[in-house]
Amino acid sequence: MTDRNERIERAKDLGKQWNKDVDKDTLDAAKKGAKSDYVGQWKRTPKLPKYPPAGQSWCGIQSFYSTLEKQDKGRKSKYKRLGTAIKPPQQFVVTDGTGIGNQEFVTGPRGTDVAYTQYQRKCNGCGQAWVASQKDVDNSNKAKERCWKCGVVGNYKENKAKIAYREIKFPVTTPGCGDTLAYVSLTGEPARKLESVLRPGSVIEIQGWIKPNKEWKYKNTKKYLVDALLITLGSTQHGGYVKLIKR
Ligand SMILES: [Zn+2]
Repeated sequence: MTDRNERIERAKDLGKQWNKDVDKDTLDAAKKGAKSDYVGQWKRTPKLPKYPPAGQSWCGIQSFYSTLEKQDKGRKSKYKRLGTAIKPPQQFVVTDGTGIGNQEFVTGPRGTDVAYTQYQRKCNGCGQAWVASQKDVDNSNKAKERCWKCGVVGNYKENKAKIAYREIKFPVTTPGCGDTLAYVSLTGEPARKLESVLRPGSVIEIQGWIKPNKEWKYKNTKKYLVDALLITLGSTQHGGYVKLIKR
């Protein structure tokens, strides 16, 4: 396709999404918003990106980036996690992903049904709880056999839980800034409430968490993983939430 045709197709897709009707109840529910019911797993922290996915300036998330940079310089081990709270809440604007070489966000968020088995373990000695993944079990990961609190090895009760939830992901910027600065991931109830409502230009308010992650970047039909900042609502005890301000 020529660049011109691509631009026309993009404008058409955007027009379709922009004009898509959403019933009042769905819109009201999105405006009321939802609290975090985050069920994430611990992952090794990727590197802190030097630049946003598109553009050169961090605009409205500069203060969070500065905090992460300070943490990164101070960390003694690459296993030490990076992340900081978005509190008080901040406004973000959904983008169509212009500049990231990926057309899939032109019409709004990417939705995925996530399903996996989680091994929920609880120490028989001290009662500390932790989780192991299918991969940990397959590889007999020794670190996950050991209670990290009291150090006892292989002495725990295990509950094998089937985890299944909806996840949506979309690129965002901050008000007054045109560049895609980070990605937002919503899971469970918040994802279900906002999925059909969000479109490029929508304004949302989030109290949550920001950290480095890996995201897809596309160049000449090839895709590869790059470091990018990810915004989530954080784990349930931090009071994270999302709500729609303006569709
Ligand atoms: Zn223990």
